[in-house]
Amino acid sequence: MRPSPRSRRSSRFDEPVDLRSDTVTVPTPSMRKAMAAAEVGDDVLDRDPTMRRLEERIAGLLGAADALWTPTGSMANLIALMHHLGRGEAFLAPQGAHVLDFELGTAAWLAGGMPRPLPHDAGPGKISATAVRRAAASDGFYASLKPALLCLENTHNSAGGTVVAPEEHAAVAAAARAARLAVHLDGARLWNASVALGVPPAALTVGADTVSVCLSKGLGAPVGSVVAGSAEFTEHARRLRKMLGGGVRQGGILAAAGLHALDSVDRLAEDHARASTLAEGLRDRGWRVREPQTNIVLVDVADLPGTIAHLAESGVLAGAIGGKLRLMTHRDVGDRHIQTALERIGEVGPASTGPFGGPTGDGARARPVRDPSI
Ligand SMILES: *Cc1c(COP(=O)(O)O)cnc(C)c1O
Repeated sequence: MRPSPRSRRSSRFDEPVDLRSDTVTVPTPSMRKAMAAAEVGDDVLDRDPTMRRLEERIAGLLGAADALWTPTGSMANLIALMHHLGRGEAFLAPQGAHVLDFELGTAAWLAGGMPRPLPHDAGPGKISATAVRRAAASDGFYASLKPALLCLENTHNSAGGTVVAPEEHAAVAAAARAARLAVHLDGARLWNASVALGVPPAALTVGADTVSVCLSKGLGAPVGSVVAGSAEFTEHARRLRKMLGGGVRQGGILAAAGLHALDSVDRLAEDHARASTLAEGLRDRGWRVREPQTNIVLVDVADLPGTIAHLAESGVLAGAIGGKLRLMTHRDVGDRHIQTALERIGEVGPASTGPFGGPTGDGARARPVRDPSI
């Protein structure tokens, strides 16, 4: 029997609310249209005109001389680190940084730099200028690792999408430069920081030699990142990108999605507001939540895998980072999804089942697994 329109509507309402990441968005019809209509060329032979437009526009937004498209943010970071680092050198980065923990150690085994994580001594996701000065000091002994680079991250993902303000960023970058360190900024979610602070992205890149940004996170493009810096840097970066297998031919089709995505930076404010609503609702239900600064909500739970599995059974998909439950808002979740998620989380269980504000594995009652096709 064919389902009636009414039951079809209610079955759609039963679909899981996907809060695992802001990367799960799918391109909108207008983005697909822009991609289909893109003017293209061979970007490996010479340049693709649409990629060039995207690179120039982002260089302008970041206050850089030039920029280069890359397929992923990990490749953008790796290219920058390969440019800045050599064997026998070390790089400093705030603990939990993407370049430290989520890029398979390529900073060390491909770029050649030894990682030196710095504690968040200036607040969640933040390091102080004093800590940078101290860590950057070289003892001059020939056998000692030489600190060569400071790698910053704004917003800081694993600290919960925390924002570094322009003056804080500038002070830390200046301390690094005074100690003759290069500065790279991993700005995968720099757009979120810019919107949360109400300042242009270029206000957050002062003192950085290179900056990477993602188009495939909150901005909703299916593919694409950009790494920006001086003209000499991008010339070298193009060679490094080819070396890593990241040169693409008619990439304008992908760059067109990026250009389209850039028109929706202001929309990120909605994600931030929904993250606050989600955090408040969770707190009301007895969960222990960090107040979000952008679109990432971190929750302390006693049993992380158990909680994730239990939430998934109840129709809310969540992720994990740094030992915490991570819920992220994005373009494809609206107010109604947030309310649905809160209702389902409310059903899952009260805070009393776990000592840290979340249900434990023991509290996970057997529930039928929702079949998304039903
Ligand atoms: C997602 C992310 C990246 C890059 O990720 P890709 O999946 O390689 O595009 C880099 N840094 C941070 C902080 C990120 O969150």
